[in-house]
Amino acid sequence: MPNHSNHGAVGDDQQNGMNRRQTSGIPQATVYPLHASISVDSSSAAGSSSGSSSAMETNRSTTGPQIIAPAKQEPDRQIGIGAFGYVWAVTDPRTNRQVALKKMSNVFQNLSSSKRVFREIRMLDSFRNDNVLGLLDVLRPSNGDFFEEIYILTELMESDLHRIIVSKQPLHDDHHKLFTYQILRGLKYLHSANIIHRDLKPANLLVNQNCLLRICDFGLARVWDPRDKENMTHEVVTQHYRAPELLMGARRYSSAVDIWSVGCIFAELVSGKILFDVGGPVEQLDAIIELLGTPTQQAMSGACLGAVAHVQKLKKCRDKSESLIRLSPKMMPFTVDFLQKMLKFDPLCRVTAAQALEHAYVQLGRARFHTHNCTCCTDDAEGRRVHAPNLEPLHQNPINPVWEKELARMTMFELRDSVHKFIIDRPAVCGIPLTIEGFDSGHRYAEYTTGIPNRKPIKPVW
Ligand SMILES: [Zn+2]
Repeated sequence: MPNHSNHGAVGDDQQNGMNRRQTSGIPQATVYPLHASISVDSSSAAGSSSGSSSAMETNRSTTGPQIIAPAKQEPDRQIGIGAFGYVWAVTDPRTNRQVALKKMSNVFQNLSSSKRVFREIRMLDSFRNDNVLGLLDVLRPSNGDFFEEIYILTELMESDLHRIIVSKQPLHDDHHKLFTYQILRGLKYLHSANIIHRDLKPANLLVNQNCLLRICDFGLARVWDPRDKENMTHEVVTQHYRAPELLMGARRYSSAVDIWSVGCIFAELVSGKILFDVGGPVEQLDAIIELLGTPTQQAMSGACLGAVAHVQKLKKCRDKSESLIRLSPKMMPFTVDFLQKMLKFDPLCRVTAAQALEHAYVQLGRARFHTHNCTCCTDDAEGRRVHAPNLEPLHQNPINPVWEKELARMTMFELRDSVHKFIIDRPAVCGIPLTIEGFDSGHRYAEYTTGIPNRKPIKPVW
C-alpha cells in the first residue's frame, strides 16, 4: 500500500506516552516518549488510526445485530494510489473507526493478476501480528458472477518510513532501535510461515504517530517451499534493496533476500541516505562488491553464468564493510556488527530474522516496544507491565505450500469462483457484511453500504 500520506508527529510527550487509556473501545493514539520529536509533512494528511473520540450513540437495527453509529464522522479521502489499486481513509460505519479502504482494480483481467490478488488477500487474512498489516474485512460484491474489483479494509496508518527518512528530521538511536526491532519481529513472523515478502523497502513499512510499525504490501510476496525445485522469478524487490543473489539471476532463493533488504533499510535509517544509490542492476552489484569485497565461488553458487563471468572480470576487492561505521556518528562497533550480519553476500551466511533478534543491538527496541506499543503484553492492577510469554511469536496458521500449487493450476473461471467463495465465507466485522453497491467503470468512486435499512453508505470520492 504505497504512497501513504503523512500526518501527525512522533513526539517526546512523556505524559501522553504513558497514557494507554481507551475511549469507547477505540484505542487512543499514544505518543512514544523519545528524546526528540519528529515532525512529518502535514500537507497531505492521511488521518489517524486512533479513531474518533467524539461522542457516540448506540443504534439498534430491527434486522441485524447492534451497531455503533458515529455522532460525527471523519470525511473520507484518498490517501494513495499504488501500482495495484487505490487507498482511501474511511470510517467503518460498524465500528466508527478510521480504517484504510483499498480498491484492487481489474483483478480478473488476466490469470497472473487474479492469482496475485487472491494470494495477497489469503495472506493478509492469515496475519495476526502487531508488525504486519492484516486484513480487517473484504467487502462483498453485489454480483458474484460479475465483479472485477475487490475492496479490502485494513488498519489505517499515518505515514511510512520512506517519508520519515526523506523529511530529514533527526531520528535518534532509540527510533532506529525501535523501528528495526519491529521490522525483524514482523519478518520473523512472516518467515515462520514460509512467506517471503520480496519487496521490503522503507515505503512498505507503515509507521504511526506512536512509532508502531507494520510491514505492508504483499503484492509480490509468495509462499516458499524449500523442497520445491521450480524456478523463481528474480524480477522482484526494488533495485536498491535487492539482494546480490537476485542481481546475479539466481533461480532459487530464500527468505534471506528479505534480510538483505532489512540491512539496506537499516543503513538508510541511520544515515538518511540510500546505501547503494546507483543507476542500474549491474552498477548495484558492482557497488555491493566494492563494499563487501569480491565474493567467493561458494557465495555465487546459485548465480547465472553470465553474472559470475561479470564478477570474475572485475578488479579484486577486499572487504571494506568496517567502513560502515562512517554511516553515522552514532554508529558503534556492535551496530556495525549487527549490520554486517545482515549484509552478507552469501545468503547462506546471512543472519535469519530470528537470529538477528538475538543480537544485543535490538534489546532496547524490544523493551520499548513491549512497554509502549504492543498488544501482546498487559498491565496488572498495580500498573506493572506483564510481558507475554513469547515476545516474538511465530505464525500460527501458515498457508500450506500445496495451496500455491493448486492456485497455479486454476483457470480464470475457478479463480473467480474461489475468490468469491473466500469473500462470502469470511466472517464479517461485527457480523455485518459490507456490500459494494453498483459498478463504476470510470473508477471515480465506490459506494458501499452496511446492507442495513437507514444506514448511510460511505462514498469515498477523489
Ligand atoms: Zn508485548
